[in-house]
Amino acid sequence: MPKVLVTGATGFIATHTIVQLVQAGYDVRGTVRSKSRQAGLIETLSRYAGHPVDLELVEADLTADTGWEEAVAGCQFVQHLASPLPSVLPKDPEELIAPARDGALRVLRAAHRSGNIKRVVLTSSNAAIAYGWGDQRPKVLTEEHWSNPDNLADNTAYTRSKTIAEKAAWDYVHGEGKGLELTTINPVAVLGPAMSKDVSASMEIVMQILSGNLPAIPKIGFQIVDVRDVAEAHVKAMTSDAAVGERFVVAEEFYWFSEIAEILREAYPDRKIAKWRLPSALFKLIARFNPVLRQVVPELERRRFASWTKATQLLDWHPRPAREAILASAESLIRYDAV
Ligand code: NDP
Repeated sequence: MPKVLVTGATGFIATHTIVQLVQAGYDVRGTVRSKSRQAGLIETLSRYAGHPVDLELVEADLTADTGWEEAVAGCQFVQHLASPLPSVLPKDPEELIAPARDGALRVLRAAHRSGNIKRVVLTSSNAAIAYGWGDQRPKVLTEEHWSNPDNLADNTAYTRSKTIAEKAAWDYVHGEGKGLELTTINPVAVLGPAMSKDVSASMEIVMQILSGNLPAIPKIGFQIVDVRDVAEAHVKAMTSDAAVGERFVVAEEFYWFSEIAEILREAYPDRKIAKWRLPSALFKLIARFNPVLRQVVPELERRRFASWTKATQLLDWHPRPAREAILASAESLIRYDAV
């Protein structure tokens, strides 16, 4: 069976992708920043999968050249998922942009030089599609659309990092890296079952509501997609002929925080979940002192919506309802004592 390199093997989406690749019979190698996480990671994956998960690991950091050549050696495919996704934005946007862009280029260059990598699937984001449009944002976004990372009022350092990194990746395969196949997966906010207490920043959507941290519910919303479906899209995009050179939005329905709170209140009636609406001006004020909330200020009162029709048509990809992702997140966060 071909060998697949999964970068950022400790991540939320990566762990689900690894489990699905192993279950499909692939040999999998992962990259981690530190091999000290090897035993814990394999235990977590095996517990979730319900069977032993065999995973080889190599050390590589997006900010350095070391390790990438060794990482791709003998692999036929790369799933490039590693990219910084912090709960709290750094002061200097370059702390996110440089590893996202330069890391993607390091992975692509190593893949191209190796001569044995057929395709790289790169995890981009809806952040590279739906941001920086100002008043001009189309009602329904598609893979044809690109964010404008220079409109700082409608971006964060993270959304900019994803647009800049994806653009750099396409430029590379259209130029110096010609011949290397590239596909990008562009997920909206990813929720679903966490495998451990160590969760992705996107889980903050459910954590902030479930933990009762929010005194009232701001007018913020996201399209949501389940991590199991995001992983499946990565696996399908790796071998589908129709996926070469394509971007794929992977998404399901849009939910306002008030609707997520309603679902969680119904499922967990004993939890203190805020009912009142928080005026947007007050949210902005609170966000000044709460760095986690500051990151979502560009979402206030904005309904960004992207269509997942292309993935359905070309990859035969059918996401489960976002509601299931919300409930599975909550269930796992409570199980692992993360809220
Ligand atoms: P996680 O935070 O769970 O995983 C991120 C991974 O990237 C971790 O394995 C982390 O390693 C690794 N990483 C971060 N910085 C570096 C670095 N300098 N060098 C090497 N590895 C690094 O995030 P997700 O699983 O949620 O995200 C995975 C991908 O999906 C990212 O590219 C993200 O932008 C994208 N995405 C995520 C969405 C979401 O809602 N979660 C939505 C759209 C796109 P370590 O464990 O060492 O920190």
